[in-house]
Amino acid sequence: MNKIPARLEKKIDLAEGLAIFRLVFDQDFRFAPGQYATVWLTHKGKTTPRPYSIASSPAETRALEFYINLVEEGKLTPSLWDQEVVRALSDESPETHVHVSGPKGTFILDPVDPRDLVFVASGTGLAPFISMTRKLNEDFLADPENFRSRRIYLIHGASYSDNLGYRQELEALAAEALKNPSRKLGLVYLPTISRPHMDPSWTGLKGRAEAMFEEKPPRDSQPLDLDATVKSMLRAMLRPETHAVYVCGHPGTIDNTLQILSARGFKPVTDIKFEKYYP
Ligand SMILES: Cc1cc2nc3c(=O)[nH]c(=O)nc-3n(C[C@H](O)[C@H](O)[C@H](O)COP(=O)(O)OP(=O)(O)OC[C@H]3O[C@@H](n4cnc5c(N)ncnc54)[C@H](O)[C@@H]3O)c2cc1C
Repeated sequence: MNKIPARLEKKIDLAEGLAIFRLVFDQDFRFAPGQYATVWLTHKGKTTPRPYSIASSPAETRALEFYINLVEEGKLTPSLWDQEVVRALSDESPETHVHVSGPKGTFILDPVDPRDLVFVASGTGLAPFISMTRKLNEDFLADPENFRSRRIYLIHGASYSDNLGYRQELEALAAEALKNPSRKLGLVYLPTISRPHMDPSWTGLKGRAEAMFEEKPPRDSQPLDLDATVKSMLRAMLRPETHAVYVCGHPGTIDNTLQILSARGFKPVTDIKFEKYYP
């Protein structure tokens, strides 16, 4: 296996225990959006490998971006939040260093499937969708005339609003489509937070990502609120004939999405692809 020595170019802290890491190296690393790389961290004489979905665009061949959350009791991630380790990874120290290998994985877009895309992410499960969205947007910008029209519906679930990584980038792309409805690549960005009681300034969607597929019949006497409106829009619109669903992240999000959408005729693999981060 070819393990490429890498250097930490930057760590962007987004919230407590949530960060974007950019690794750079001197060889080309080619991958398809949605694939993952194995990160091998060597520290204190021990090497720990872990798979991470790649968030960067494949146009960047000498850098990889990862969106990672700290697992307090984990073996690898606590080191990524240790200042000394972070400094050593930036300075290419001989004792503490990082390699990458891969790519691996089949969680990739089907290039001939013409259906619109529904991306469902929980937490850092957003990473592969950032890579896919960036690549689709680059393809659109490179040749807008010949780009095959696509809509992306991206549902991102997080605990709090400050855990909605890449929010500005996604809001900017969604705004492009709103400004120009004939733009051939459109993004409908649907961030939702599961602990709104801890985040009183949040006025957006509430609940876990997969809750967007659960619909309670509205009571006649009550006007539809934002959550109910989006849920009924998704309910009315999503069909396996017209939409391919991709789900990534926490196992509960994947299992619940599969359960709800299977009952509506979506079949695993052909209509719903998924990538579980842990069992
Ligand atoms: C294909 C694939 C792609 C992945 N991509 C990403 C990614 O882009 N970003 C990312 O943050 N993680 C990703 N993961 C998870 C990652 O590989 C590690 O499992 C995670 O970072 C924890 O590593 P650790 O060594 O600190 O903890 P470990 O020692 O590996 O695990 C400790 C415990 O935490 C559980 N666990 C693992 N991940 C999480 C989590 N995110 N939240 C809560 N509990 C967890 C494990 O099941 C285990 O019981 C991916 C996993 C897979 C299989």
